[in-house]
Amino acid sequence: MQKLDFGVIGVGHLGRYHVQLAAEIPEINLVGAFDLNHEQASGICSSCGTKAFSSLEDLLDRVDAVSIVVPTSQHCQVGLKCLEHNCHLFIEKPITSTVKEAEQLIARADQAKRIIQVGHIERFNPAVLAAAKYEIRPMFIEAHRLSRFNPRGLDVSVVLDLMIHDLDLILYLVKSRVNSIDACGVSVVSEAEDIANVRLKFQSGCVANLTSSRISLNPMRRMRLFQKNQYIALDFMEKKADIFQLKEPGYQAAPGSSGMTVSRIGVGDQARDVVYEKPEAPDVNALQMELEEFAGAVLNGREPEVPGAQGRQALEVANAILAQIASPDPV
Ligand code: NAD
Repeated sequence: MQKLDFGVIGVGHLGRYHVQLAAEIPEINLVGAFDLNHEQASGICSSCGTKAFSSLEDLLDRVDAVSIVVPTSQHCQVGLKCLEHNCHLFIEKPITSTVKEAEQLIARADQAKRIIQVGHIERFNPAVLAAAKYEIRPMFIEAHRLSRFNPRGLDVSVVLDLMIHDLDLILYLVKSRVNSIDACGVSVVSEAEDIANVRLKFQSGCVANLTSSRISLNPMRRMRLFQKNQYIALDFMEKKADIFQLKEPGYQAAPGSSGMTVSRIGVGDQARDVVYEKPEAPDVNALQMELEEFAGAVLNGREPEVPGAQGRQALEVANAILAQIASPDPV
């Protein structure tokens, strides 16, 4: 089997999982990792049977692709260095801190004919994979991403830290241009926003209402999509999708399907059965699947699932939200 010579840059909280998983993926030959904190990288690398390099250049000379798992402020600089060494890039989310940096990185990668995949991990969440067999054409979306306080990630706003996951997924599902943004956010415990809410209106007519918080007592990661005759509820923490559909009375679910009629609404000709389905959610590790997908894209020369341009698009909307929070429209 053809294997991808692969390295990990940044072996902190998330980078350690990249190392652990890359060491187990058959399509990947994990050459080693690099972190400015060599001691930390050495501990993790030795437990995974790989090498902690003390020079980034030495690692880049030996690999064809890397995961970049350093703080977001470093993504562009580290990414450009990797492209100088002709490496394909898996970059954790958000792609970069600014749209200008993202454009620079994407342009360089295009010139060098290298792939960029961005770590928008929720695309690989079993809840999203379970709902993939349904046609998604939402008219209204409600997204809540609430986490407990954690000192990590406080250097950036909750919009770039958490809300960006939902922004990417919503842009991917709605497939329409954002026409207007109405955002607010407040800094409660850190210097950047800890809670933010935004209402996005799309050219298609869809409206998405997103709330993100990193100072909540009760964690929640849910997205509810409403579309003609259908309600799709995704729970990213529980990794499940619940689907409610309106059907003609007497509708028979296909044999083997989980569909069951749970109630009836309306009367006479207007009567409709409410049919509940719980599609099977694959038992996958989303980060592992992302890395496998990236390796497959590089080895087979195909477009990755989350290309750099889509990472840039999510960042552009996130930055527009931040700009509006910083300078709200006068009343
Ligand atoms: P972290 O601070 O725990 O780890 C970052 C590591 O990078 C540290 O070990 C640090 O020493 C190292 N580092 C810093 N600059 C470096 C450089 N120039 N070269 C090499 N090493 C360098 O951060 P983290 O929580 O692991 O986050 C890393 C990235 O992953 C961020 O972009 C973050 O947004 C992203 N992230 C994504 C998710 C997700 O759900 N996909 C979750 C957490 C973090």
